[in-house]
Amino acid sequence: MLYRNEKGQFLKGFIPFNKGKIDPNKHKKRLEYLKKYYKKNIEKFREKRKLRKEYHSEYRKKNRIKIRFSIKNCRNEKRKKVLDFLGGKCVRCGFTDIRALQVDHIHGGGRTEIKKYNREYVLYLLKQIESSHDDFRKKYQLLCANCNWIKKSENNEIRKH
Ligand SMILES: [Zn+2]
Repeated sequence: MLYRNEKGQFLKGFIPFNKGKIDPNKHKKRLEYLKKYYKKNIEKFREKRKLRKEYHSEYRKKNRIKIRFSIKNCRNEKRKKVLDFLGGKCVRCGFTDIRALQVDHIHGGGRTEIKKYNREYVLYLLKQIESSHDDFRKKYQLLCANCNWIKKSENNEIRKH
């Protein structure tokens, strides 16, 4: 365990909630008792679990929009952190509406990265910011949607239809 040393003593500075008074044998007995109790009353537990599942699925159905919004808000907040870090405006034209700002890979290769991380992409960016501010700024910049398309066409990154 994390809070005990090799001899089983508590590490310095760690104060267990019961001050280490629980006898390990008693603890074992208690666990065994709980196991037996669980096996005996397994039907009860199953029923409770079923009820819980039903409650959750109903809650999800009823609050579908609320849940979607909270997920979206959470994602937006994280996205805003990344955008703020990169200056909050398009580096070419100075456009500031975050709805049309995109994180651009200065040296290309963005599409494969986005595909790889998909919904976790913003988290992936945040992690990179945490690990190194300078590297992140060297690798990414902010472009508005227009400038991003213009850059793509300049670099011949657009597929011809
Ligand atoms: Zn722009």
